[in-house]
Amino acid sequence: MCLTCSIVNGEFFPVGGIIYKDNYVLLHHCIDLQIPGYLILSPLRHIESYSDLSQNEMLHIGIVTKAVVAVLKRIDGIEKVYLASFGEETTHFHFHIFPRYKWMLNHSAEEIRTDNMLDGAKLLSFCRKKYKIQPTFINKEDILPVIEQIKQVFANPDC
Ligand SMILES: [Zn+2]
Repeated sequence: MCLTCSIVNGEFFPVGGIIYKDNYVLLHHCIDLQIPGYLILSPLRHIESYSDLSQNEMLHIGIVTKAVVAVLKRIDGIEKVYLASFGEETTHFHFHIFPRYKWMLNHSAEEIRTDNMLDGAKLLSFCRKKYKIQPTFINKEDILPVIEQIKQVFANPDC
């Protein structure tokens, strides 16, 4: 069984638990990155391509993404939110919701810039390598407050 399916089935607990789940999608924090608010949004069904998403899955992915990006942008230090889908490590289709913090721009130019311009794909790739950590060693103190803020939005849709 794939990692995402084992989270869907309650056999694996990502840091902070399930942030949001409905009949179509699942939102949780990345299991092995020490970047608060780095989230993974997947359909519940094990499909491997965007083109396999049902209308309802697409709709729910869109709605949840919009809500999550809005919350992340209100968090101190987050300047921008990147969205990406690769599916190289986990084939279960998912989006990476990657908050770009101000402090990330302090990394050396050769790691995050191309021709002196900030290179989002390079920064994402660099941070995914630099802040990767075994799930059991994740420092929850940084991550849980951010997860709490996101959970509150889904608990109270009016805010
Ligand atoms: Zn799966």
